[in-house]
Amino acid sequence: MSFTKTSDKKAEGAAKTEPKVKKIKGAEKTLAFQVPKGMHDVLPADQPWWNRTRRAVEEMAATYNFLRIDTPILESAELFQRGIGEETDVVQKEMYMLKTKGGDVLALRPEGTAPLVRAYLQHGMSRLGQPLRLYYEGPFFRHERPQAGRYRQLTQAGFEIIGGPNDPIFDAQVILVFDRLLKYVKIGDVVLKINSIGCRICRPFYKRQLQTYYKRHEQKLCADCQRRLNANVLRLLDCKNENCKPFKEHAPNFLDKLCSACSQHFKGVLEYLDELGISYSLDNQLVRGLDYYNRTVFEMMVQQGPGAELGALLGGGRYDYLFEELGGRLTPAVGGAVGYERLIEAMKAQKVNLPAKNQKRVFVIYVGELAKRKALKLTEQLRSAGLAVTEAFGKESLRAQLKIADKEGFSLALILGQKEIYEESVILRDLRNSLQENISMSKMVDEIKKRLKEK
Ligand SMILES: [Zn+2]
Ligand SMILES: [Zn+2]
Repeated sequence: MSFTKTSDKKAEGAAKTEPKVKKIKGAEKTLAFQVPKGMHDVLPADQPWWNRTRRAVEEMAATYNFLRIDTPILESAELFQRGIGEETDVVQKEMYMLKTKGGDVLALRPEGTAPLVRAYLQHGMSRLGQPLRLYYEGPFFRHERPQAGRYRQLTQAGFEIIGGPNDPIFDAQVILVFDRLLKYVKIGDVVLKINSIGCRICRPFYKRQLQTYYKRHEQKLCADCQRRLNANVLRLLDCKNENCKPFKEHAPNFLDKLCSACSQHFKGVLEYLDELGISYSLDNQLVRGLDYYNRTVFEMMVQQGPGAELGALLGGGRYDYLFEELGGRLTPAVGGAVGYERLIEAMKAQKVNLPAKNQKRVFVIYVGELAKRKALKLTEQLRSAGLAVTEAFGKESLRAQLKIADKEGFSLALILGQKEIYEESVILRDLRNSLQENISMSKMVDEIKKRLKEK
């Protein structure tokens, strides 16, 4: 008996020390090490959101026959300079680069499409059935200014359709996969913005028109726009600076200037979307930050919290020329990528309910020292029988253990005390109605399985 008493005191003592956790929290600033700026830990409490997201991506991949590909986190820096474009923010300002001891210049991958195309070419994947549907997921790195919802290490999944004819049906299909993905995680009020940024034939004409137009207002533009005016004039259309807004509104519209092939192609994409019942809004200022896009570009936006601005959850487009840029042949391709952090933020902002946890689990409770010793072996017996078991070893009082079982949503508990050990039995307790029953140990597994099945 004295054992139980001391143990109970211990349990109480543990409960009383809880506020200390807060003190440690307040002491964070004095800690020598913190997570690097702009990066974040995913703590256990957030893991259900991450699991949900990963699951959704896997479901979509299985449903639409996308094959997984994993490429290294480090790639030659030149791959991105050539692929994404020297004049882009990503390459100029945001790449993490390092020089290896062997003298190679590598970069932490800032995005997934250039590495995927590199792998496609390197492994001669054009020999496989085309179009080839590939998907990837993993961490990406961008040295951006830290701000809400933007991380320097971010997680993305991408779906890409590569090769085959340059058919607008594939653009629509990529958009469809993302539309379905958002529905799967129950994110609503999504706005699909779509645009075409033409091809090698019509884009130079449009760029020149845009330059002529902007040159007239050069002095009034922000510094970024003045700098990009000659190097990357399309990006002026997505400048976020207030001063530049009025000029954007009156800029010539690319959709009026597309060549007939691009115009046909874009019309095709929109017709397929109409057919699928996916609504969209044409946005002639949507150009995306990477140079490799041509023709279709799209983004899906959602309101991040009440009254907040629309934030991009995901985006993508066509990149037919990227293969040539990286040493291959002209290969039609279209794809997009979704950011997990943004997606999870949107799920939380929209108060999405995660699916209920699997209830087919049993909580093992022990009372007293002898029972504790037996309980360790008993939990293993149950696990070997294929049951998911949880316990709270270290919490000695029955009340404390029941409290945990209740908090974690268990509906069934198995209670083991000294008396039960002598009788070779256990108590099965229904935690929802507190009804309990004594069962012989030999029938225990069958009985638990039966009860869990009933739920
Ligand atoms: Zn064109
Ligand atoms: Zn500007």
